[in-house]
Amino acid sequence: MSEYGNGSLYTERRYEMVEQLKRYGITNTRVLEAFLSVERHLFFDHENRDAAYDDCAFPIGCGQTISQPYTVAYMTSMLSERCPSGKVLEIGTGSGYQAAILDYMGYSVYTVERIPELFRRSSAIFGALDLKIHQRLGDGTLGWEDEAPFNGIIVTAGAPDPPPTLLEQLAEDGVMIIPIGGSAGQRMTVITRDADALRHEGFHAFAFVPLIGREGWRDG
Ligand code: SAM
Repeated sequence: MSEYGNGSLYTERRYEMVEQLKRYGITNTRVLEAFLSVERHLFFDHENRDAAYDDCAFPIGCGQTISQPYTVAYMTSMLSERCPSGKVLEIGTGSGYQAAILDYMGYSVYTVERIPELFRRSSAIFGALDLKIHQRLGDGTLGWEDEAPFNGIIVTAGAPDPPPTLLEQLAEDGVMIIPIGGSAGQRMTVITRDADALRHEGFHAFAFVPLIGREGWRDG
């Protein structure tokens, strides 16, 4: 067994994860292909890699989690169906897995994380995998002004409301996928910029860690 565990075992586990996603209703072939190809266990610490293909969120340190595979697949499908290509900003890099999925799908990926330790951890993984993902440490509720506008913005933490600064950074016809609600749960929301109007659509309920920042929740 190598440092990275039993490769063929993980290939099989990835295949099983994708079959389960299909049973749960994920049909987007680009998303399913990305889930089959991106090695999720590489975004876990060595001692936890056997849990990488279970369909549940998992702690990554600093009180944060890598989201459940179904949640990542659900959000990525929503994005892919409305914004098939272009520049995407992710808020909440966490483990780096969601960013790697987007990169595999051919998006130009920008991602922001507020916790230095998680920023450094994901940076090391992106480097080891030679992924050309642009990343920044800071408050993602303020977006990434120098790189705006974005065709897609995907927020992977629960927000009280859509951060106004992020909305300003959406391109014309751009789409934001964001869980909105309180600590008991959030509704996955799709916001589309159409001419000068913003259209909001609510979907299923999820439970995310909080989006903490100037235009999110207060820390502590
Ligand atoms: N997308 C991640 C992945 O693939 O592992 C999972 C994200 S985890 C559920 C949410 C992340 O959002 C945490 O790493 C947290 O530190 C980060 N976060 C919360 N508020 C943030 C903010 N204002 N700016 C940037 N990151 C933030």
